[in-house]
Amino acid sequence: MKISKANKVLVSGASIAGLSTAWWLNHIGYQVTVVELAAAPRISGAAVDLNEPSVAIAKQMGLYEKFRSYQLGVDRIEYKNSDDITEGVIVIPRNEENSAKEIEIERDKFVKVLLDELIGQVEFLFSDRIIALEENETGIDVRFNNGGQHKYDLIFGCDGSHSGTRNIWFGPEENYAHHLGAYFSISIIPKLLVPQRTMQTFSVPSKSVMLNAYNGKTDVIFIFMTEEELPYNYRDLTEQRQIIREQFKNEGWRTSELLDEISKSDSFYFDKFNQIKMPEWHKGRVVLVGDAAYCPSPASGQGGSLAMQGAAAVAGALHKYNGDYKPAFEAYERELRPFIEEVQLMAEQNMKTNFVLKTEDEIRERNTTAKLF
Ligand SMILES: Cc1cc2nc3c(=O)[nH]c(=O)nc-3n(C[C@H](O)[C@H](O)[C@H](O)COP(=O)(O)OP(=O)(O)OC[C@H]3O[C@@H](n4cnc5c(N)ncnc54)[C@H](O)[C@@H]3O)c2cc1C
Repeated sequence: MKISKANKVLVSGASIAGLSTAWWLNHIGYQVTVVELAAAPRISGAAVDLNEPSVAIAKQMGLYEKFRSYQLGVDRIEYKNSDDITEGVIVIPRNEENSAKEIEIERDKFVKVLLDELIGQVEFLFSDRIIALEENETGIDVRFNNGGQHKYDLIFGCDGSHSGTRNIWFGPEENYAHHLGAYFSISIIPKLLVPQRTMQTFSVPSKSVMLNAYNGKTDVIFIFMTEEELPYNYRDLTEQRQIIREQFKNEGWRTSELLDEISKSDSFYFDKFNQIKMPEWHKGRVVLVGDAAYCPSPASGQGGSLAMQGAAAVAGALHKYNGDYKPAFEAYERELRPFIEEVQLMAEQNMKTNFVLKTEDEIRERNTTAKLF
């Protein structure tokens, strides 16, 4: 199968993995459709960190300068105790060379840059999703929730850690999800709760609250550990807010003020710290990219970067094998898997040594010996 605009491919999910994959597939010559469950690209959530390899990819895409123009940054990381005393501080010097190597950018800006590139080049189907797939010799038949039916050459499941494509084609999430024993929420409050470009962390055993202020806004992040998985409805934000309120009531520092802020705010994202580990990321004409295939969990700080790297790697392999998807999907996986496994291991360790600590002694030790790593 030579790559040409006669080859129709479907990307499921219009977030970091999906938009990046759509960009690359369009770039190498496919006719691309993107289907997204939400009515528009979802733009809430913490800023996206692009590491060195994904900055290199942004350069190849010709988007580096645009991303760079939205660059955020942190000057100080402060560790607080319950009396709001700063027990430890990391001062991060502003350095042109370092800030050019890695980019932190708000999610809405990332989405805007990619959408500006894709509108008119790629077809978008919002408020829809794949409900059935059937593969045959000549392609793969897709049935959509809105009643549509269409045949594609290839399907790219870029629909996140709770991927619908994975569920339909590879089996249920429980076969692949590894719970790291913690949950988190993030709300973006449209005012500064700490000075601009400052991060603050307050911890009690098994729980942390983090603040991160930039561009006149503050990310408010609550994290708590629990060995058991909590039963909750993925779509019920009221129930999820209540879980956070229960966990953090009476926990000291500024938690009651911050719980009030998130109760009033429309911005609320809740999920568990999960990793996705699959024996194979592809089967037949379907391949998974980003969190759908290999979610590293937020403890890695690299979910967005790995999504961009996966998109470039899968398209690069298709280009190299001239559209022959079988060797291309194998090469994609061979190239990326060792790095993904490294990041997933680092994230598991980071979870235990940095995000949430089990005892007061561990918290004091981290706070008072805070250093850049
Ligand atoms: C709204 C939002 C907020 C987030 N906030 C944070 C955060 O604060 N901190 C953090 O560490 N990580 C967060 N994440 C996860 C983080 O974005 C990912 O780890 C990383 O960016 C990898 O991106 P991805 O494109 O693989 O997955 P995601 O960014 O999760 O994107 C998946 C996309 O697929 C869509 N989708 C889901 N199911 C279907 C379906 N059946 N059919 C079609 N489309 C579907 C979703 O609406 C979404 O647009 C967030 C994700 C989202 C969607």
